[in-house]
Amino acid sequence: MDERSEQSFPDHFIAQRIRKDQQQGKHGGAVVTRFPPEPNGFLHLGHAKSICLNFGMAEAFAGRCNLRMDDTNPAKESSVYADAIERDVTWLGFSYGDHPRHASDYFERLFECAVTLIERGLAYVDSQDQEAIRAQRGTLIEPGTESPYRSRSVEENLALFQAMRAGDFEDGAHVLRAKIDMGSPNLNLRDPVIYRIRRLAHQRTGDSWCIYPMYDYTHCLSDAFEGITHSLCTLEFEDHRPLYDWVLDQFSWDVRPEQIEFSRLELEYTVLSKRHLNALVTEGHVAGWDDPRMPTLAGLRRRGVPPQALRDFCGRVGITKSDGTVEMALLERCIRDALESAPRALAVLHPLPVELLNYPQEREEWFDAPLHPKAPEGAQRRIPFSRHLFIERDDFMETPPKKYKRLSPGEAVRLRHGYVIRCERFDVGADGAPSKLYCTVDLESRAGGATAEQKVKGVIHWVSAAHALPAEVRLYDRLFTDPDPSGVKTEGGFRDVLNPDSLEVCAARLEPALGALAPGEVVQFERLGYFCPDPDSTEASRRFNRTITLRDTWGGK
Ligand code: ATP
Ligand code: MG
Repeated sequence: MDERSEQSFPDHFIAQRIRKDQQQGKHGGAVVTRFPPEPNGFLHLGHAKSICLNFGMAEAFAGRCNLRMDDTNPAKESSVYADAIERDVTWLGFSYGDHPRHASDYFERLFECAVTLIERGLAYVDSQDQEAIRAQRGTLIEPGTESPYRSRSVEENLALFQAMRAGDFEDGAHVLRAKIDMGSPNLNLRDPVIYRIRRLAHQRTGDSWCIYPMYDYTHCLSDAFEGITHSLCTLEFEDHRPLYDWVLDQFSWDVRPEQIEFSRLELEYTVLSKRHLNALVTEGHVAGWDDPRMPTLAGLRRRGVPPQALRDFCGRVGITKSDGTVEMALLERCIRDALESAPRALAVLHPLPVELLNYPQEREEWFDAPLHPKAPEGAQRRIPFSRHLFIERDDFMETPPKKYKRLSPGEAVRLRHGYVIRCERFDVGADGAPSKLYCTVDLESRAGGATAEQKVKGVIHWVSAAHALPAEVRLYDRLFTDPDPSGVKTEGGFRDVLNPDSLEVCAARLEPALGALAPGEVVQFERLGYFCPDPDSTEASRRFNRTITLRDTWGGK
């Protein structure tokens, strides 16, 4: 089947399940999903998979999808991250209604539910420290040990829980635990901690709270408060599902959410864990969360990757229950496909000066050239031509190998959209490399000229020296040299396989039409790849980022 039609009519196991639920009138036929990031970092490609799934299911089944900040740990969270998350979801092309939701919006209701659990003898305050609780947890083969505080009276528990809320205790003095089963084969059901004391201001609720609910307790209840029908999450939460169900089963709901798990996205040559991405930023291996080498949505956007490339990628990756690593080549193919229609331009990344000996000093011509080769009669831009040009350094070789189609002494090439030139001689610089070429130009060789059809071996790109715009062009490459950086077993781990050549900065020259480009607008520099102006680019100092090369140059594949 065509991959694209598969994308518009999703048919993975989750889509099938939702379709069946809807057909059977479950939840009154409603489909409500949510994307629940913790605002403790920027979103990455793995999140894109979850976003495309959650919002995609809502779109496919005429439902809705909430964006919910899972903001229960003020120690690690900030509104900077929350703002970035909103920006990225919107950029991907999805809508979450007027505003995002926040787990912190539900702190009061979550507290009330906890009180109800205590009243029903289903939760108790434990006054042991973290170590003691952990030591009593047991193992996969040994049951846990009951806490000495497990049989506290309801009254005592209620009084202590209220005092915890009132701020009467230091961090760690008490926790609230669900009273489930210390002998359960599932460790998550062995009286999990559901509230802890954290005397920390929260980015949204300020100093209103000094107790904060734990993820497993908060998540299922937040889903239920929002009327979520299908709670889609990654496979590591499979073992938490019995707890998700236990908490919800203690209350009655109009809509009872169900958790369904799918496999995480793992991608070659990168890391998709906020902890690792955070380390890359804080240790200075990259310039920030939006460094174009980062697999974050902000980084990809800055590199010039269009959102539809990522939606296409997530569609092609598919939704399954089996873990697997996706090849970087697939992402790169989606990016190239999305950029195919980008306008073309001429730019020289490593300039080598060329003087045309038989072209008058003062003369200047402007050639029309189509913005896209597939529309030769379509929109045009104007390219200046003069006696002094720049060509790419590696488009000239003094002693070329056989089949070399570019310039060498005595040989001719065609300048893209221009004339045929022949190299007569060249200067050599102090470093022994060619520093300037002297060529002759055949002025009859352009379309319509007497020698227009003359056969030359190759066509190269160029710019007119006097007219060209100088620009700093950053050539980004993969951040890691190992396909599985997270799996590296050395002391430094992924740090030991950082690609030392992931960034090359060159002093390039661009055709003048590129001066009008807005940040993020991608063009193809012919023969070189796709590029766009960086958001920091100014007229006085132009900065371009390479979005992607024209073809896969890795691994000799
Ligand atoms: P990380 O492990 O990178 O810190 P996380 O799961 O803790 O990620 P959250 O902010 O909690 O990050 O993630 C929000 C949602 O995105 C969750 O539902 C999570 O399952 C999903 N998600 C995170 N990483 C991936 C991934 N690699 N593939 C698919 N979904 C993911
Ligand atoms: Mg998480």
